[in-house]
Amino acid sequence: MVAPPRVTVLTGAGISTASGIPDFRGPNGLWTRDPAAEALFTIDNYLADPDVRRRSWLARRANPAWGAEPNAGHRALVELERRGALRALVTQNIDRLHQSAGSSPDLVLEVHGNMVEAVCWSCGARSLTADALARLDAGDDDPACRSCGGILKTATVMFGQALDPAVLEAAFVAAEDCDVLVAVGTTLQVQPVASMCDLARRAGVELIIVNRDPTPYDVVARRVIRGDITEALPALVDELVPPS
Ligand code: ZN
Repeated sequence: MVAPPRVTVLTGAGISTASGIPDFRGPNGLWTRDPAAEALFTIDNYLADPDVRRRSWLARRANPAWGAEPNAGHRALVELERRGALRALVTQNIDRLHQSAGSSPDLVLEVHGNMVEAVCWSCGARSLTADALARLDAGDDDPACRSCGGILKTATVMFGQALDPAVLEAAFVAAEDCDVLVAVGTTLQVQPVASMCDLARRAGVELIIVNRDPTPYDVVARRVIRGDITEALPALVDELVPPS
């Protein structure tokens, strides 16, 4: 029996749109429809102004991700793992749908963090966003860290905030240390994550892009698949590792 290829996957908003979560800059994107919302998720504004924090929590609560279910695209990546081919699953999404679908938390690298957890800006203590939202409902407009009283925020990377260097480094290593890099539902326009494609190419890794729209890396990809992700990704997984 031939060993399965070692596949690193990079996912962006496009894999979650079929779950009802709009992408950020597409036609129905969050920032496209409401540019003012972007200011709520900029770290300097957030830290400086309790009212920005209150409105930011409310905007988080309105995120359709809370009620969203994983789709066939997420499930295809669980299957890829089950067939022994998943090296790492790097995601730009904060919705936790890969883990909800059944991907092993150990293999998921959330380069932009996640919205399910909250973190204290001062002491780093972790709690649940749901807890902060419940306190907001109870009348606390600026729920503070229960350990130290510091400012709480979702465990997401906001605009103006650096990515976690350890997570980023692990993503870069995974891009080079694999046979195939599959980039799914990402426009590959946001650095430094997009540079995973450069690292992969230099390491001789086969690059496959699955996305609705063109990306800057299409010209160097071994293959570009334009179809609906919920159909294209299960088909690609079957092709990379045929079902036994
Ligand atoms: Zn704290």
